[in-house]
Amino acid sequence: MSSPNIRQKSPVPRISPSGGGHLARQPSLTAASAASRIDDATSIVSLRRFNFTVFGVLGIIAFIYTTVVLCVIMPWLSYSVPGVLNLGFLTIDTGIALYCFMLCVVMDPGSVPVDYSPDPEANTVLQVKRKSGEARFCQKCGRHKPPRAHHCRVCRRCVLRMDHHCPWINNCVGHANYKAFMLFLIYITAAAVHALGLLCGHALYWMRMHAENRQHSIRTGPGGTAVGTSAEASLHRNLVWAIMQTVCTGISLPLTIGLVMLLIWNLHLALHNKTTIEFHEGVTAKIQANKAGTSYKHPYDLGLCGNLHAICGDSLATWFVPTRAAAEGDGLSFPSGWQADLGRSAQGLLREPLGL
Ligand SMILES: [Zn+2]
Ligand SMILES: [Zn+2]
Repeated sequence: MSSPNIRQKSPVPRISPSGGGHLARQPSLTAASAASRIDDATSIVSLRRFNFTVFGVLGIIAFIYTTVVLCVIMPWLSYSVPGVLNLGFLTIDTGIALYCFMLCVVMDPGSVPVDYSPDPEANTVLQVKRKSGEARFCQKCGRHKPPRAHHCRVCRRCVLRMDHHCPWINNCVGHANYKAFMLFLIYITAAAVHALGLLCGHALYWMRMHAENRQHSIRTGPGGTAVGTSAEASLHRNLVWAIMQTVCTGISLPLTIGLVMLLIWNLHLALHNKTTIEFHEGVTAKIQANKAGTSYKHPYDLGLCGNLHAICGDSLATWFVPTRAAAEGDGLSFPSGWQADLGRSAQGLLREPLGL
């Protein structure tokens, strides 16, 4: 894996004429051509990614949803207001989560263009090899690696802004499908918590009803012995559903705990604009910096708002809307925290004389 060494070339940012503080970037390819390449790539639906694991994930989601609807919501809440609301929320949430999951599976996470070459004069962060200081080059693909790109041994190619290879989607999480992956985590975790809450609520309700019916039968049964209660009869009638609920709860509980932990971890990384690979590289870089008596700062951390905009897009209205469009930028160059700091300083200097 390449080293995390990062070199800043031409650190003076260029402010766009609009004065909005946007940092102008200068990739080696034009943004339009690179974006169209990614768009073309994302339009390719790769059916061979649907392996046993992917179908397994789809099967588990379908099993939990079906069990909760048929064995919990319908017999317990039926068509009451809480029943309709729970059914509506769970169905919409699960539907969006499934759509995000499919996007994660079929979308190309981002390929390095064949004619890509690093531009040392460009006003962007330039990652270099640790020892030689030369531009990063992938021996396996036989081409240069843009910043934040890494070679995936499973996919056998370099992936733009590679986060990690996820076996559950049988695909890499990279520049183009990162937002879809984050939204999948958010929606599926919400659906899992909701489903688990309904399963537990129904189990508590059934136990209370069962206890009340037993008390009633003991009081009224001939000779003081308990007679078959309606709850027991109901249980016998619906034995298959009871088993389904038990199995569903057994799957949902560890799954929900795991998803909540995974979501918290990935939100932590996203809020710092860090990939999983960069987190591990950052740990090593920090140790080395401490030994050298210096400090290390993640170069792509743009602050909370900057990081959210970089991942979710500029428009707040579309932050939680899964789309097939690639993330912001072309995936070949990224604004750095240094540029953002310099941009803010430049804006401050401009405002001060004007008394703004
Ligand atoms: Zn490669
Ligand atoms: Zn991969």
